[in-house]
Amino acid sequence: MDIASLSNDFEKYLLGVFATPSVWLEKGSGMKVWDVNGKEYLDFLGGIAVCATGHCHAKVSSALCAQVQKLMHCSNLYGIPNEVELAKRLCTSTGYDRAFFSNSGAEANEAAIKMARKWAHTIGDDKSTIISASNSFHGRTLVTATATGQPKFQAGYNPLPKGFEYVPYNNISALQDKLDKKTTAAVMLEPIQGEGGVIPASKEYLRSARDICADTNTLLVMDEIQTGMGRTGKFLASEHFGVKPDIATLAKALGSGFPIGATLATENVASAMGPGDHGSTFGGNPMACAAALATLDVMEEEDLMDNALKLGSYLTDRLTVLLKPGAPEALIGSVRGFGLLQGVVLNSPVAVELKNKCAELGLLVGSIGDSVLRLAPPLIATRDDIDAAAEILEDACGKL
Ligand SMILES: *Cc1c(COP(=O)(O)O)cnc(C)c1O
Repeated sequence: MDIASLSNDFEKYLLGVFATPSVWLEKGSGMKVWDVNGKEYLDFLGGIAVCATGHCHAKVSSALCAQVQKLMHCSNLYGIPNEVELAKRLCTSTGYDRAFFSNSGAEANEAAIKMARKWAHTIGDDKSTIISASNSFHGRTLVTATATGQPKFQAGYNPLPKGFEYVPYNNISALQDKLDKKTTAAVMLEPIQGEGGVIPASKEYLRSARDICADTNTLLVMDEIQTGMGRTGKFLASEHFGVKPDIATLAKALGSGFPIGATLATENVASAMGPGDHGSTFGGNPMACAAALATLDVMEEEDLMDNALKLGSYLTDRLTVLLKPGAPEALIGSVRGFGLLQGVVLNSPVAVELKNKCAELGLLVGSIGDSVLRLAPPLIATRDDIDAAAEILEDACGKL
């Protein structure tokens, strides 16, 4: 296929919010994807932490195909049996009491913010502010871009919605100082800042944040859109920290690529919401729920959470070998993350060049800013896949 003409049309007809891609994909299977000219890639980005069950897992594809032939949509005016089943299974897996389904991560967070405000207003009229962390990422709608503590996602969109404040991440005294019992409705955090560069919270930080919120009758909202669904080796990454937030949001891997977001809440918080308080045309529709249920089946049947834990530490070991000082691979300074969400921190600002070199050599990885590579492979990865990826990365470092 003619990539030059695809690129021309891309630049001519699509809103120019994405850089013109150098890789054009046509199909995928398991850990691999192929481009429009048949070139094969080992996928260590997994659609940015979406394709946890691998590309086109047979179980997910056939569940979706079956649903597509049965009922695609009926609206929330009618009962959708697999939506109830999905809510029940997610609540059972996470310990939350109720679920709301939407179509994306941003919408899951938007619902979390609305729910937090609604709940907080039952305590006091002024209790409405959402505190989030600098360098966070919570989505691209106007409200979630405002919750996102990175000015580059907000520039040009004034006036931004009111009622958002920011604190430095992993700094408990800053949170303590900012939080006001009378005006703060919720604290919203990622257990690992994904888009911010794969930066994990410290255990003390999340635990203290949980305690401070509980002491001040303030909600803790955890954005697990990237870290949830077993990616870090636990269903929710907050389990690693021994922390149970009042609201947790999921999206990315939930539907193995079919768009779906979920907002999970405790009964206490959920009880603030009644009929008509929120909604979504497509949220929780039969296709999305079929894809998510099949995803949960595959996670259980193939022990993907356990695999993420084991292979995550194998990946860390394998990458740590590349830290040899003096060698060309010394381009890599450190490795951080949990399970199969790992950030490779480079010693020089060449993340984009290195990512492109990897793609040239048949490995897809992501870059964040100019000095971090993001690895978020499907959770079905094997040791052989990790060996193959590490070899290509080493090769790419040498050839840069
Ligand atoms: C991807 C992501 C979002 C936004 O999800 P969309 O589906 O793109 O709206 C929000 N929060 C986190 C932590 C994410 O990784």
